[in-house]
Amino acid sequence: MPDSRFRRPFLPPACGALLLGLLLTACGPGTPEGPLPQAYDPPGAVVTMDKPITRPHRRTIGMRSAGVYASNEFAGGRLDDFFRTSDSLYTAVIRPENAPINNSPWYAFQLWADRPQTIYVEMTYVDGTHRYVPKLSRDGHRWRPIDPAAYRPDTSAGTARLRLDVGPDTLWVSAQELLTSDDVDAWTARLAERPWVTRDVIGTSRQGRPLYRLTITEAWPATDFVLVIGRQHPPEVTGSLAVQTFLETLADDTDLARRFRRRFAVLAVPLVNPDGVDEGHWRHNTGGVDLNRDWLDFNQPETRQVRDAFLPLREDPDATVYFAVDFHSTQYDVFYTLDRSLEAFPDGLVDRWLETIAARLPTYTVRDEPFGLGSPVSKNWFYETFGATAVTYEVGDENDRDRIRSVARTAAEALMERLLEVPDAS
Ligand SMILES: [Zn+2]
Repeated sequence: MPDSRFRRPFLPPACGALLLGLLLTACGPGTPEGPLPQAYDPPGAVVTMDKPITRPHRRTIGMRSAGVYASNEFAGGRLDDFFRTSDSLYTAVIRPENAPINNSPWYAFQLWADRPQTIYVEMTYVDGTHRYVPKLSRDGHRWRPIDPAAYRPDTSAGTARLRLDVGPDTLWVSAQELLTSDDVDAWTARLAERPWVTRDVIGTSRQGRPLYRLTITEAWPATDFVLVIGRQHPPEVTGSLAVQTFLETLADDTDLARRFRRRFAVLAVPLVNPDGVDEGHWRHNTGGVDLNRDWLDFNQPETRQVRDAFLPLREDPDATVYFAVDFHSTQYDVFYTLDRSLEAFPDGLVDRWLETIAARLPTYTVRDEPFGLGSPVSKNWFYETFGATAVTYEVGDENDRDRIRSVARTAAEALMERLLEVPDAS
């Protein structure tokens, strides 16, 4: 196949598929021109009773005549079929855990070959269309986006064709860099080595993985609280990167963070859906449910246990929740805030916080999309339970990773500064 086919100008897949994309791909509830939150959900998303899922079939598929092999036998792997279409062209088939489902089609697989060769892989999807720019790795830890010249998304077909150099050394191909439950757990363990950070287990996922909570404070006893959660949706790795930097900044050995921790305590569950992450899910937990639509009925063990870890604060007359934030990813950076007609405590905090971020990052566009309480998402539960300022922090899928971290660091610093100005409510 001639290389010239791959030298067309690169278009992000979201552009061509705009109409379908806007209907199906938003993680959160809306776009600047979009309708109300629920419009982005597939039918039945807010019905959170268990739904059947198909477990991934973990295996290595070998095409011995060509000496080419593909495998999904690792945490986070997702490759449902792989076959040779013609000479050097292969087809990868990616399916969701169940359907209908939002269009966040996660994939992750390894390739290798008996001898060095260039192959083409056509990415195809059942119940979805291609979305994520492939990330490549030779060791499963260091990742880079695919060379645009080797990547041709077909937005009308919802597929993409990749040109890949394979050989005896494993090539990892993934929708986003792998950040499995083991990776996140190792990170929380490292953070908990700091004297003002503790880690405990608040429950277990449906498949028995621990749900870890970090407590970051130097106030004993603490009465002023900030609540943080993340990764309800497995493919949202950029949100995971942001929550890590956000929490690291709150736990830093800086004057600002020390002053903050002497008054506030941060309670954080950075990985709410470890099963979905390790199973290579597109969106749901292993109950087949979108966890961020279960914050009204609490039918799923993960949401129920995270709720129960926070609820004692409501019964404690000395405790006040000032701020709650839930980290996600979607096509672009956006803060889903509460409609300003809702009286959240502390009054005006979210505006002062976002204004500070905008002032510190002049080249960064702060998108603030307020909306009301129509959907059963965590943000609304935080507000309705504690009366607190609550935000969904969305990070763009393909943003520069260093930029994600610098924005998250600035967001954490701005939050600490603005919270320290709020008079103690107790
Ligand atoms: Zn999400």
